[in-house]
Amino acid sequence: MTDPLHVRDEREARDSAATNTVDRPTSSEFVLEVRDFSVDYGVGSSMVRAVSDVSLNLRRSSVLGVAGESGSGKSTLVYAMTRLLRAPGVISAGNVMLNVTDDHGNALAPVDLVRANEKELRAVRWSHVSIVLQSALSALNPVLRIGKEFDEVLKTHRPEMNKTQRRERAETLLTMVGLDATRLDRYPHELSGGQRQRIMIALALALDPELVIMDEPTTALDVVTQREIINQLYELRTRFGFAMIFITHDLSLLVELADEIVVMYAGQIVERASALELYEAPRHPYTLGLLNSFPPLHGARRELTGIPGSPPDLADLPAGCNFASRCPYVMERCHQEEPRLTALEEGGRSVSCWLQVSGASASVPVELARTPRVKRAHPTSEEAVS
Ligand code: ATP
Ligand code: SF4
Repeated sequence: MTDPLHVRDEREARDSAATNTVDRPTSSEFVLEVRDFSVDYGVGSSMVRAVSDVSLNLRRSSVLGVAGESGSGKSTLVYAMTRLLRAPGVISAGNVMLNVTDDHGNALAPVDLVRANEKELRAVRWSHVSIVLQSALSALNPVLRIGKEFDEVLKTHRPEMNKTQRRERAETLLTMVGLDATRLDRYPHELSGGQRQRIMIALALALDPELVIMDEPTTALDVVTQREIINQLYELRTRFGFAMIFITHDLSLLVELADEIVVMYAGQIVERASALELYEAPRHPYTLGLLNSFPPLHGARRELTGIPGSPPDLADLPAGCNFASRCPYVMERCHQEEPRLTALEEGGRSVSCWLQVSGASASVPVELARTPRVKRAHPTSEEAVS
């Protein structure tokens, strides 16, 4: 595994490099509060529950990582939270409160995204919450020069700006993400994948939102570009103080960027903890399997073992634990009773596994019982995710 101390040193170095930190005046300490949130596809006998009973809080200016294999429900969760979900997807339970502020940091009335109408949603999108999707090529209009994309967003949401001011703002945004302003005169196909993804990040930051959601923004990129973009995101977040939800199947990448991580399996959160704790000492067998599935971005190489088997059919979930058929530590009880996400005594972490309930410690395998060696450099999950 990557040496966590090395990771922490890098992160601290990046923190001190990003000197221009803005303290954004706050209203609620959380920019986003998600409660008992469930999302289904289809209705009646063909219905599947893609997101099941998810609750989480996102502290202002913090980064929440959402990890899980393909099909675990990560994208459905954020599309539904931001009301970008299309039929046959439907929100079946819960609420999502966005605690917004005005340009001066004064609290505005919270917006319940689940119940907001189109007008209310238009008012918060881009200005308060923006999303960077997986494929920048399909997100950018192929027949528009890049500058026009920025101009359209700014013209719609900042009508007080004239053309020269909009161009200047677009140039500033491109510089912020490490691109030359001349890229504004290019078409998307004239740029590399990494450049297009940087454009999407710049667009997402155009109106200085409080929350930016990134859905696998670097997955299609080579490792070097991926690393550059992650570093840049970290600096931008520190400088401008926006909160971020970063979705990826690559848990190793998240430890570079996130304060808190939630791990999803079959639509449920199975573990949540601070990034370094989760990386150093995972408590759920699935988290351990994910960590052993991807090479670290830097540090010592390790053997990649992956997770044998495949996720369960959401239309035919097993009794007991959803991970039982793939779990190397499965016990009789796992086939009978469904574990619930439960707070552990240590540091506010939560896990959904029978191995970790109190009284079962004698049977916990050593790799799931390690004590984190690192001093926690980030808020505990109890503080940032409850
Ligand atoms: P990926 O990393 O591949 O995007 P994910 O973790 O984001 O995966 P989702 O795309 O949210 O997972 O999918 C969650 C579940 O919902 C999967 O089982 C998927 O098959 C199901 N699903 C997604 N879209 C639909 C749809 N339009 N109709 C029916 N089921 C769907
Ligand atoms: Fe494995 Fe049982 Fe824990 Fe599920 S509850 S992850 S099957 S040990």
